[in-house]
Amino acid sequence: MQSKVNNQTNQLRWVILLLAIAVILPTVCLLWFMTQAVKNESLAIRQKLIDSYAGRAQEIFFKYPDGFINDQNNFSASVIYDQNDKIIYPVHSIQNTTVLSDALQKVWKLEYSDKNFDEAIKQYKSIADTSSTVEVIYECQTAIARCFVKQNKITEAIEEYRKLAYPDSNTINKNLPPAQIAPAGLMLAEMYSKVNHKDLPKELQKQLSDSTGLIIPTETRIFVLSRLIDLAKTNGLAETLKTEIQTAQKIIDSDSISLMATDYLEKHSDLKPFPQGVFRKIEGRQSVYGIHFKSSGRNRLELLTPEKMSQFWQKNADDFTDKLVFCRIYDDKGLQIAGDRTVEGELFSTLNLKNHFAGFKAELCLQAGVFKEAANRQMLIYIWVAAIVISLMLISSLLAGRAVLRQAKLNKLKNDFIATVTHELKTPLSSMRVLVDTLLEGRCQTKQQETEYLQLISKENIRLSKLIDNFLTFSRMERNKQAFDIAPASPVEIANNAAEAVQTKFEKANVRFSLNILKPLPMINADKDAMVTVLVNLLDNACKYSNDNKHIELNVFAENNSVCFAVKDNGIGLTRRQTKKIFDRFYQVDTSLSRQAEGAGLGLSIVKFIVDAHKGKIDVESKPDKGSIFKITLPIIKSQAGEM
Ligand code: ADP
Repeated sequence: MQSKVNNQTNQLRWVILLLAIAVILPTVCLLWFMTQAVKNESLAIRQKLIDSYAGRAQEIFFKYPDGFINDQNNFSASVIYDQNDKIIYPVHSIQNTTVLSDALQKVWKLEYSDKNFDEAIKQYKSIADTSSTVEVIYECQTAIARCFVKQNKITEAIEEYRKLAYPDSNTINKNLPPAQIAPAGLMLAEMYSKVNHKDLPKELQKQLSDSTGLIIPTETRIFVLSRLIDLAKTNGLAETLKTEIQTAQKIIDSDSISLMATDYLEKHSDLKPFPQGVFRKIEGRQSVYGIHFKSSGRNRLELLTPEKMSQFWQKNADDFTDKLVFCRIYDDKGLQIAGDRTVEGELFSTLNLKNHFAGFKAELCLQAGVFKEAANRQMLIYIWVAAIVISLMLISSLLAGRAVLRQAKLNKLKNDFIATVTHELKTPLSSMRVLVDTLLEGRCQTKQQETEYLQLISKENIRLSKLIDNFLTFSRMERNKQAFDIAPASPVEIANNAAEAVQTKFEKANVRFSLNILKPLPMINADKDAMVTVLVNLLDNACKYSNDNKHIELNVFAENNSVCFAVKDNGIGLTRRQTKKIFDRFYQVDTSLSRQAEGAGLGLSIVKFIVDAHKGKIDVESKPDKGSIFKITLPIIKSQAGEM
């Protein structure tokens, strides 16, 4: 027996182990496949991104920038060469080669050392009157005006500067070069400003407009224009002369850029580092980008400030940027000129820009986290799928395990059943055989003894039939074939029938039996015969498990829309633990062979099965040596519920 149990546990262990392997192995494989799939997915996503952005990058980094040079307005300044490759713009200051006469130098001494301004003015005038050189006359006239200023004779100074700024066609001044007229114009405006002259706005306007068009040394033009703007501003004319100031400012800016570029170009003397039509950075006092063009044998360098270059590329970089990608642009010197500098991203492609921007580079990057996000999303899907598959596998293996366990239990039940049936049938059969043998052999002495033996045989027979009945009911129950004939039935009739069935037995066993029916009782839906079987089983048990002086009651009463049948005895009772088990099949409290009561431990499981089929319930109240109450509660027919 022991080895059989061991064998079964071993088998069960194997089954559980196999089931575990059946779950664990596919799970591990699934997880491995998933990680591989996620890896492949990341590569695929990266490739997809590169492909999808390649077209857009083509437009933004190659096509648009080519049109850039067509618009002259895009450029900030230029350097222009003549046919001999001499820079003609920006214009450089003319060296003053005029050798001034000794006479003039003497007058300077009077002006600067002796501060004898009246005498100096007189002598400057006489030199001017006798000279026929335009530079000498210009020098004298500016000196006279200067002396008047020093004497604070502003009206006289204004007169002198006006002669220079507005040369009379009859005088020699008409030959004055613009490079000298412009500073004189500025001085005239300065004098007007000093005396708050009413003509100041007009004069400033004229000087600002004239100076922009003059071909004068670029540095002089920057100086004159800046000073004129200052004058306009300090005299509260910034608003009135807004347009003129703006134009002048633009010229100052582009002049400065051009000058800056020539600083560098003079040092390097030629345009070698400038392949035609390609932007190159010029690193002078301040950096500037230049692009070299040659047309009709003349060289020209168009200039672009780093700010403008950055602006242009930033616009393109912005066009390219979206939720997934962004870019960084680098110039020919490798300096980043556009694109986000701070954002971290993953580089997925580097483009070498072409044509006018050859030497420039664009780095295309994935926004930080985007890639991870996509991969994470995919991962989440995989995790879900895996979780579902694993749970399905677990559930199915649990179900399989349960089925296996149930099968094992059923096998055990069958074995128990056979063992119990054999054991229970053997006892009455062997006692019947002994009695029959005795009768056959004619060993009975009296007729009375013969009758007694026959009665004993009949009793054993009845017991045997009852036992077989129970087995059959149980067997049908197991196959779920016990079909009940449920119909409205009277609880009184059921109780009476049961009482009748046990009457003879109880009389013989000296049982004090009382049947208490608390009328009126409503009808119940029940299989009458099955319910009688239930009560007979309970009453039988009450009798079987009571010692001498048996007192058994069957109480029938109505309670909360139900009818109760309570079988009460003063028998051996049950412990709480036993109470929980008595409805299990084949369970018996006393399993010793010497036990008095007959039965196979099936009675109460049959009772519970029938009560459950009637949607009722069974409660047990019991204490060892104090007796037990088995109470069955069955619902009454619904239509009567209200009447109660
Ligand atoms: P059996 O055929 O052994 O009577 P039952 O299923 O009817 O099987 O009962 C199961 C066990 O419950 C019994 O073996 C007995 O030990 C216990 N039992 C049943 N009814 C009573 C009762 N009224 N008082 C005490 N013990 C009881």
